[in-house]
Amino acid sequence: MFLPSLLIICYNLCMQKSNFSFATTKLIAIFLSVCLLSGCTKPAGLTSVTRDDLLGTAITISIYDNVPDRLFAQCFDEIAAIEARMSVNRKDSEISLLNENTGGAFLVSDNIYALLQRAVYFSGVSGGAFDISIGPVMELWRKDGHFETLPSPKEINEKLAYVGYEAITFPGSNMVSMEQGMRLDLGAFAKGHALEVVRDILLENGVRHALLDFGGDIYTIGEKPDGSNWRVAIKTPIVGDNSLVCVIEVSDLCVMTSGGYERYFEQDGIYYHHILNPATGYPAASDLLSVTVISAEITGADALSTAGFVLGLEQGMIMIDKLEGYEAIFITSAKEIYVTAGLKGKTTLLNTGFQLKGN
Ligand code: ADP
Ligand code: MG
Repeated sequence: MFLPSLLIICYNLCMQKSNFSFATTKLIAIFLSVCLLSGCTKPAGLTSVTRDDLLGTAITISIYDNVPDRLFAQCFDEIAAIEARMSVNRKDSEISLLNENTGGAFLVSDNIYALLQRAVYFSGVSGGAFDISIGPVMELWRKDGHFETLPSPKEINEKLAYVGYEAITFPGSNMVSMEQGMRLDLGAFAKGHALEVVRDILLENGVRHALLDFGGDIYTIGEKPDGSNWRVAIKTPIVGDNSLVCVIEVSDLCVMTSGGYERYFEQDGIYYHHILNPATGYPAASDLLSVTVISAEITGADALSTAGFVLGLEQGMIMIDKLEGYEAIFITSAKEIYVTAGLKGKTTLLNTGFQLKGN
């Protein structure tokens, strides 16, 4: 089961559009590392299922316990339900309906209400570097759901006036209010939320060893079946370089990466990537190539990896250090790797073109 799923992923890579290339390359890195660990033999009880039609990426659930097939179906149904609620690419999603009903209070489900409150919390924690109200500007850069259009400075300035999480308020139970013209985009948050929900379903069903790979964002349940930690490798965060840069050992933790090499387009020799600085409306241009956040709290880690990438090394490090339960790996454009205190001594360099600092 294991090798075929690796082949399916390689096939998907060939078939995917360029703006999905990043997510899949993160994923290959992970599978290579798992492959090294297991020697590519199928451990007893391993069942692995991949789907590439959800959340705009390839999702692989690998369970190392004996479980009924319906458990996989339950997980994928739940991911589909999350996409149906949260996707801005679907006109009938709850978020799209909310976006069409700004300028007053709008009633949302318990699920979206709780998620939006968390999103606003992480927007505050990051000083607005992570901002789910990036929608109006993000829509200028997207065409038919793909990040591929360079807007004019005038367009960006006009839409920036509608960006600002402080104007998202919660006037009553399950009520959300935004100023007219604001639009939410939960793209930096949705995979983390889906991972968290699937993790919880598997734990409730007694799963003890599993590897969840959502487009290269990872959660590891328990240890590997042999009792050792999972080793998760991080891809070198440079377009066109599929080597691995470093590896960390984890169990019961997520490994969420945001980087400028992920989804992007090139125009007149300039690369434009999909993580925007909400202060400028342009792709974040910090001193970082990527940020990886490691935590048991998956949705927060997803938000914080995006935020850290926008903030840059110094401010990103300060943000993570202030928060309990999150560690991070920052890879800079100078090809240096910095890790937070809790990861010191736990990160192994795999690429001699990079330097591991203060480990
Ligand atoms: P990925 O989902 O590709 O792993 P991220 O988690 O960093 O990467 O999310 C990037 C997505 O988040 C973008 O495609 C867009 O939908 C949205 N986004 C971009 N910039 C920001 C930002 N500064 N704050 C919140 N969301 C953002
Ligand atoms: Mg994110």
